[in-house]
Amino acid sequence: MSANIISGKEISAKIRERIKYEIDEIMSANSDNPNFIRPGLAVILVGEDPGSAIYVRNKKRICEEVGIRSFGYVLDATTSEADLLDLIDQLNHDDRVHGILCQMPLPKHLDEFAVISAISPVKDVDGFHPINKGLLSMGKECLVPCTPLGCVEMLKLSGIDISGKHCVIIGRSNIVGKPLSALMLNENATVTITHSKTKNLKEICRQADILVAAIGKSGFVTGEFVKEGAVVIDVGINRDPDNKVRGDVLFEEVVEIAGSITPVPGGVGLMTTTLLMQNTLQAYHNIISKEADL
Ligand code: NAD
Repeated sequence: MSANIISGKEISAKIRERIKYEIDEIMSANSDNPNFIRPGLAVILVGEDPGSAIYVRNKKRICEEVGIRSFGYVLDATTSEADLLDLIDQLNHDDRVHGILCQMPLPKHLDEFAVISAISPVKDVDGFHPINKGLLSMGKECLVPCTPLGCVEMLKLSGIDISGKHCVIIGRSNIVGKPLSALMLNENATVTITHSKTKNLKEICRQADILVAAIGKSGFVTGEFVKEGAVVIDVGINRDPDNKVRGDVLFEEVVEIAGSITPVPGGVGLMTTTLLMQNTLQAYHNIISKEADL
């Protein structure tokens, strides 16, 4: 029997509607205050990577859709690290900005870790700052990286119970695999994280109740990796030689074995930008409630 398709399109549309509703409520409750500040997101793009430029345009469009004010900064590819850190410092102190995101990857002469660490942890809506990473691994409230958060939200909003399940993650990157392992552990899953040096990968994956592929290799996860009825989350976004976007999972084969599966496109990818909006709203609330305490 064919798997249930978990639609990132439908789930992200519902989340965006809720965010828009909440922001509309906030704005109308404060409509008599001309100085009231709408939630705002600053997005920095360094250089002209065409893929990154598309991502940044999408973020701006979705900000408009949900009512978040967006501030775009497009910097020359030769921008110095000192100039980029200066801009981040200005944005850290800008009351109109509640979230700051610097689009990765950066040109080679810039130190990504230094840039991520310069963003104020309270405005770090990508959840990449070492403080947020540390809080996540301690199970404390923090800003969580959007893609792994999107995976967990998809499971929860599809009514899939995580607690006690064996979750196998393929990939240990800092932006997907590692933070997802912490999130799933916080949700009481039993977590196995695998990577390019893992032995007996197929056997381990076949033990998964929930299998997450975050590898970056088109169609890598075939039917042999999947237990009958398992939930399969495909994070991969790969452009094949025919220019089609495909996931890390061989969908047409795995859909006949899995119980539920996310498609590519139309799956996790759509959730990432939506969760960025959710994180911006969370950062806004955190900042506003801190100011109210002063
Ligand atoms: P990455 O290159 O940083 O990490 C890939 C991981 O896969 C590594 O940990 C590596 O050990 C593992 N791996 C590689 N070959 C393997 C093999 N043969 N067997 C087992 N493990 C292997 O990639 P990333 O940034 O984590 O991205 C992974 C994929 O997810 C990419 O396709 C990327 O485009 C996609 N992605 C999607 C979103 C989204 O919004 N949906 C966000 C981020 C990344």
